[in-house]
Amino acid sequence: MIGTTPKPFEEIMDAVAGYEKLAVIGCDGCAKVCMTGGSDQVEEMAEKLRKQGKNVVFAVTPDRTCYVTKTRTVLDPHVDELKQTDAVLILGCGGAAQITRKVTEDYDLTIPIKIGLDSVGHMDTLVMGELALEQCQECGECILNETGGICPVTKCAKSLLNGPCGGAQDGKCEVDSERDCAWILIYNRMAALGEMDKLQRFMEAKDYSRMAKPRTLNIKERRVA
Ligand code: SF4
Ligand code: SF4
Repeated sequence: MIGTTPKPFEEIMDAVAGYEKLAVIGCDGCAKVCMTGGSDQVEEMAEKLRKQGKNVVFAVTPDRTCYVTKTRTVLDPHVDELKQTDAVLILGCGGAAQITRKVTEDYDLTIPIKIGLDSVGHMDTLVMGELALEQCQECGECILNETGGICPVTKCAKSLLNGPCGGAQDGKCEVDSERDCAWILIYNRMAALGEMDKLQRFMEAKDYSRMAKPRTLNIKERRVA
């Protein structure tokens, strides 16, 4: 899922300053899991905005706001209300905000899209409602086969492809002593798997052209363009 954290309410009020009639659109996908933009948080935000004197014209929460057809289905009955709104506040990830902008443009509307969350990466839930951990940076060239299923790009503070760096102390990273050194985890895992020989190989630099932005996934051809 895409991890999100709430922006401070003062920052949101700054973003919507001058806009009186607002729509609030959340996301019952990732943002619900992060408890930042699910239907409960959307209702709370609508209430807070009303208390600040804003006119919340409508508030909705698609299942997955990054999924354009789902968002369009939820927004279709609200087009007339959208025409009355001065701005839309999104409680979702950056993708959700941009998909919503696209949908409003498809309605031939030019409405300011404001975002109430900060997107903080591809996270996986460790403890529901409490903790999620970044697992993958979608580098386009996965090396988990060589590293025992532990990603050094994401979990090593220096994203080293050939580690460890030598700075670890008592198994902890020199950059953050609260975290395990990713490369020691990889070493231990490969030892447990009996695959230490794979660590003898020098890992070539990654093909960073595969991370060049923006990327387009051609699903039929199974390739990134
Ligand atoms: S190497 Fe790491 S960042 Fe790259 S795709 Fe695999 S898990 Fe994701
Ligand atoms: S101590 Fe380990 S995790 Fe930290 S930067 Fe060095 S190799 Fe990476």
